[in-house]
Amino acid sequence: MTDNYEQIANETRASGVTLVAVSKTRTPEEIKVLYQKGQRDFGENRVQELTAKAEELAEDIRWHLIGHLQKNKVKYIAPFVHLIHSVDSGDLLREINKRAAACGRVIPCLLQVHIAEEETKFGLSIDEVREITEGPLLAELPHVRIDGLMGMATLTEDEEQITKEFRSLKELFDQLQQTVFSDSPHFSILSMGMSSDYKMAIACGSNMIRVGTLLFGPRS
Ligand SMILES: *Cc1c(COP(=O)(O)O)cnc(C)c1O
Repeated sequence: MTDNYEQIANETRASGVTLVAVSKTRTPEEIKVLYQKGQRDFGENRVQELTAKAEELAEDIRWHLIGHLQKNKVKYIAPFVHLIHSVDSGDLLREINKRAAACGRVIPCLLQVHIAEEETKFGLSIDEVREITEGPLLAELPHVRIDGLMGMATLTEDEEQITKEFRSLKELFDQLQQTVFSDSPHFSILSMGMSSDYKMAIACGSNMIRVGTLLFGPRS
């Protein structure tokens, strides 16, 4: 499986795309194998698993929280998390701001946008994204920084459908970058694409992919 790593790492490096290795359910030993090959960005979807691994593994790993985040768990990751991909409410942003302030940090966040047809995926509607980014909220939260958007396409074989969803997120990203975030160079990350659809995501403008299965093998 690790030859997949070399291939995807080279592919992404060449195109300026950041590869987040999704290490949920993987052991610290499995993570170390990629670490020794130079991988530093790792993504977890559960706070408890993330903090346990962060304690055990090298300090220069950049930990990404990619799964749904409950407000009462923010305090555990606030001191060190590199990027939170899964912000899906203004209330969560307020809590991140509060906990970041207590640590003397500014925490980079992505707004997770619901682009899939499926009902089950978390995320903000486009209207909710507009409300958060155009309203007064962000000015009240100096300890959070919105660095971009994250989205997940529908789990389907229909490549046209997936491409349509990725394009819609890219369009929103471009709009925001040219309007409310035109003076914010940090608003630059479009996190979309997983093992099954990362090539399509990159073709649609993604610059950060979250890949687990292709790097580590199937999850049990
Ligand atoms: C698990 C997960 C991934 C990686 O999925 P793979 O299909 O294993 O590449 C990406 N993003 C999120 C939010 C995930 O939960």
